[in-house]
Amino acid sequence: MPTTYQSWGNFPKVSQRTHPIRWRKKPLPLPDTPDTVLAHGLGRSYGDVCLNDGGILLTTRSLNRFIDFDIDKGILCCEAGVSLAEILDLCVPHGWFLPTTPGTKFVTIGGAIANDVHGKNHHRAGTFGRHVLQFELLRSDGERLLCSTTSHEEYYAATIGGLGLTGLITWAEIQLKPIYHRAIQAEFIQFNDLEEFFEISAQSDQEYEYTVAWVDCSSQGAALGRGIFFRGNHVTKDEIPKKWSVPSRTFTMPFNFPRFVLNRWSVSAFNWVYYHKQRQKSVSKLVDIDPFFYPLDGILGLLRRYGA
Ligand SMILES: Cc1cc2nc3c(=O)[nH]c(=O)nc-3n(C[C@H](O)[C@H](O)[C@H](O)COP(=O)(O)OP(=O)(O)OC[C@H]3O[C@@H](n4cnc5c(N)ncnc54)[C@H](O)[C@@H]3O)c2cc1C
Repeated sequence: MPTTYQSWGNFPKVSQRTHPIRWRKKPLPLPDTPDTVLAHGLGRSYGDVCLNDGGILLTTRSLNRFIDFDIDKGILCCEAGVSLAEILDLCVPHGWFLPTTPGTKFVTIGGAIANDVHGKNHHRAGTFGRHVLQFELLRSDGERLLCSTTSHEEYYAATIGGLGLTGLITWAEIQLKPIYHRAIQAEFIQFNDLEEFFEISAQSDQEYEYTVAWVDCSSQGAALGRGIFFRGNHVTKDEIPKKWSVPSRTFTMPFNFPRFVLNRWSVSAFNWVYYHKQRQKSVSKLVDIDPFFYPLDGILGLLRRYGA
């Protein structure tokens, strides 16, 4: 049956069949026809790398089992369809965090490896692949390769960032990062132009693990390049807050916006409000990991907002 699996960008529209992978130890379900197969995680890729027009998608979300968690060393082994959200739910209460994370936690570990994703600590931690200790690669000829820096190194290197083209990752083992608490000591700084941005950025890279900026691309003239710089560090042992409640965010886009809603004027108006909603030049506060790392995940059905 053709299905309507889409990428995050909702483009291009393609037609493909799906085959769920439920058991990591079973052989790959390869067709007798010349049709191609491609692994699919949670479809959060912007482009078409998670689509296989006219072919077969091997959907991996049923590969969702944890295999081993060394709580002392922070080494986690899980199946490739486990999402980063599920890893956080398991590991954060034990004082472990992802070594690096993209701006959404609704991606699978297989997708994170195949796109070699990066996060706000790219200047310190590099990409996700740097923290992958080993994984199993199931090739289309049925061979299973244990890949690491010392075993099938060429497949290890080619699969990290390999967009699923070297085979199916069935499970992976990653090194987590120790934290004291789920709070982030964060600072939000308005900058007036790109020159100021570069100054703040250079200084922040030294002192902050996480940095990211929003730039108002619709601003012009003297306001050209203005924006808000976000930076933060995990709290230290001494900064652990006495009370903390995990924010619940379930705002849902109630309907599909028509495409014309997203235009030059509406974007400019939104950007103006976003830039000016912060009244002081700089604001410091403790923020939970969820809104700090995943602000867009708080808006369910975000695609609708973009009229996609
Ligand atoms: C709101 C939002 C914010 C984002 N922020 C960032 C960011 O800050 N940094 C960043 O780097 N990316 C970011 N991304 C992109 C996202 O992190 C990546 O596209 C990620 O790879 C998606 O993972 P997925 O599980 O959805 O994989 P899919 O999109 O389903 O697939 C991605 C690729 O992985 C392959 N793949 C999936 N599973 C396997 C497997 N088991 N074995 C082999 N190959 C496999 C697929 O074939 C495909 O080529 C963001 C995306 C969104 C929607």
